[in-house]
Amino acid sequence: MEQRPYVIDVMISAKAIAAKIEELSREITKEFGDTDKLVVVGLLRGSFVFIADLVRDLDLPIEVDFLEASSYGDGMESSREVRILKDLRGAIEGRDVLVVEDIVDTGHTLAHVTKLLQSRNPARLKTIALLDKPSRREADFKADWIGFSIPDEFVVGYGIDFAQRNRNLPFIGKVRFTEDS
Ligand code: 5GP
Ligand code: MG
Ligand code: MG
Repeated sequence: MEQRPYVIDVMISAKAIAAKIEELSREITKEFGDTDKLVVVGLLRGSFVFIADLVRDLDLPIEVDFLEASSYGDGMESSREVRILKDLRGAIEGRDVLVVEDIVDTGHTLAHVTKLLQSRNPARLKTIALLDKPSRREADFKADWIGFSIPDEFVVGYGIDFAQRNRNLPFIGKVRFTEDS
């Protein structure tokens, strides 16, 4: 597929992300400071950079697991149908669980995933997302912690892709097309 030419404008710098993660990890360490049963669950693939930085700031005994749910394909449109492409390796019954997501957009993904995980009877289930687009919400979902609230823009970087590219950018950027189609 031929990609229309675009540039990426910095929206949130690597430094601002690191400062935010330090702040969030202090709150999470406080919330889960009383447990040795915490499983940190990353939603593949967009959260892989965020979860890597976040867990290294957590002063807690944790396990890490991953789950992959389908949302966007390779395009820029959200889909309301959520499917589990890869389930957790471990059981979470009686465990404390922190679900780590890159972006809450319509909210369908996290609404579906948290409902599924809740049905497995964890002791405690919390969610954190680096980014939130509140103006796009369709499902009734609210994360327990949010890094940054952003406007309705298509973003990339820091684990987040556009057609599978740009995940390795150290900052969050905004895609801007340089030609009319
Ligand atoms: P939701 O189910 O909340 O609509 O979708 C959440 C998922 O949509 C996110 O985990 C992310 O994969 C994708 N998404 C939402 N907004 C963006 C965006 O601006 N850029 C990219 N690359 N993916 C996004
Ligand atoms: Mg995602
Ligand atoms: Mg994606």
